[in-house]
Amino acid sequence: MNDQARTAVLNWKQAVDTAADTSVPAATPTQKPVVTRKLTPEEIAIARSVFGDALDTSQIQLTDSGVPFAGDNAVAFPNLVNFPPGTLSQPGNHFHGWLVHELTHIWQYQRGHTVPQLAVDAAGGDYDYGGPEGLVAAHDAGKRFGQFTFEEQGNILRHYWERTQRGEDVSAYKFYVDSVRYGTSDGVYPEPAPPPGRPV
Ligand SMILES: [Zn+2]
Repeated sequence: MNDQARTAVLNWKQAVDTAADTSVPAATPTQKPVVTRKLTPEEIAIARSVFGDALDTSQIQLTDSGVPFAGDNAVAFPNLVNFPPGTLSQPGNHFHGWLVHELTHIWQYQRGHTVPQLAVDAAGGDYDYGGPEGLVAAHDAGKRFGQFTFEEQGNILRHYWERTQRGEDVSAYKFYVDSVRYGTSDGVYPEPAPPPGRPV
């Protein structure tokens, strides 16, 4: 265990011990209150704007209790996203793009992928799908959304949503976002047309 990891464990243990000790105030200037909650209506709307009906948001919980060793990273479990301490108590929508990335992992779990699979991918650290140009080239080569790494998938959907918020061009993303929405992300090339009457 290196010094950084040892410090993280000590800090975590201290936080747990302090939380269990009712004789001291629950929060000190160095400790942030833990928030644990379901998605807000705004967050559900964000999820729907990316995933359509392909993500079941009804059981998803968010917390910012933090995960030892995760540091400033979030960790997504099936139906639980654990952000670093303080993330959810900060005002504003600063973490919504990050949330879309983490919701992508929940979508992956809902499609049958497992915690070890995602952990291996996260440890591999391949988050770079090449930006819009990379997506166009991938599409031209017949690459499926499901053929990107789990972390690349998270960033593709995150960047798609963030671009929509900034009013930027998302045409390079549309094929892949549609394949997520319509459940064809692992399907046969070319894409079948979306069912009639579904929002595009
Ligand atoms: Zn991720």
